[in-house]
Amino acid sequence: MPAPPKMAPINLVRKRVSMMSGMTSEDVRKPAELGVVNDPRWTRVLARDRTADGLFWYSVATTGIYCRPSCASRAANPINVQLHDTLADAKATGFRPCKRCHPDGPSIDAEKAAIVARACRLIEGRDEEPSLNALAKAVGRSASYFHRSFKAVTGLTPKDYAAAHRARKVREGLISGSSVPEAIYDAGYNSSGRFYEKSTDMLGMTPTQFKKGGTNEEIRFALGQTSLGAILVASSKKGVASILLGNDPDALLRQLQDRFPKARLVGADEDYEALVARVVGLVELPQIGLDLPLDVRGTAFQCRVWQALREVPVGQTVSYMEIALRIGSPKAVRAVAGACAANNLAVAIPCHRVVRNDGALSGYAWGIERKKALLDREAAVTVQMSK
Ligand SMILES: [Zn+2]
Repeated sequence: MPAPPKMAPINLVRKRVSMMSGMTSEDVRKPAELGVVNDPRWTRVLARDRTADGLFWYSVATTGIYCRPSCASRAANPINVQLHDTLADAKATGFRPCKRCHPDGPSIDAEKAAIVARACRLIEGRDEEPSLNALAKAVGRSASYFHRSFKAVTGLTPKDYAAAHRARKVREGLISGSSVPEAIYDAGYNSSGRFYEKSTDMLGMTPTQFKKGGTNEEIRFALGQTSLGAILVASSKKGVASILLGNDPDALLRQLQDRFPKARLVGADEDYEALVARVVGLVELPQIGLDLPLDVRGTAFQCRVWQALREVPVGQTVSYMEIALRIGSPKAVRAVAGACAANNLAVAIPCHRVVRNDGALSGYAWGIERKKALLDREAAVTVQMSK
């Protein structure tokens, strides 16, 4: 019997499939190739899954090239495809690296992350905020590609990032004892007018109040008990600023002190107890909602995530990916998870309704058991409401 051709034409292989029942020795090797169709890695190639880059490579016998899984070229016929665990294996085929996906270089995501990291260092190292064009030029990419990549990786525009960085420098300057004008100047604001315009957004108060250690800020708080354990509720003049859940009331109080180290924490009076009762009510019966002003303090990105969470109805869950899509930053899934973890308003900002893509509960700052209990409770409510 003649040796089988190295690259089996498609019709020949098809014929072999139909002949499977009467397998010959040369057919024994063929199912390995056909197996690519059933290999879960092949699905990732078809999906051009960039998270698969670096995990494996594939080569195409008919074109004589090898690619990374995310390659944008037209999908090859799986019959002609071989999967490789390492780049060395792919190279060992003797095929050429694809000119489109550059399988020998760093992955697209890794490259983007490197570009963005360089840009962040540039922003942080300059007194004057670099222009978008200057940043793009410095990292060797077009302005639009750079802007898109930056937003995808950090969840922020370069401009927002620069503003957040300078606000942080002002805060650090004020805390370390600089005068207000010094701190503003050192952070790269050439006119204090520009800074004052935005100071309340950035510091939550005027710079002078901030320098005094937030002594003008009074935080009222009270501890309570729910069916899920201890609860601490705290409010500023603007609204409810913290809702913390836990087993140990003292630990909750310490968390509050850490968050507002310079504020005057005032134990609650009867008025405030009434407000706490409403928050406890929300934990017990999520469907009643919480019609109280919130004092949400976070970065622009965190605030966008938290707003999206507040729009998730009782009894529903969403994935981190879905939230990332809803706030228009589809690539910032990890940053979304970070913002969920940084939530200070348990239940009122329902980060417990965010689960992993596969529906698994994932983490919860106040304990996975509480997350499960809250979701079970809400699921029961929705069943009742639909009856
Ligand atoms: Zn390719």
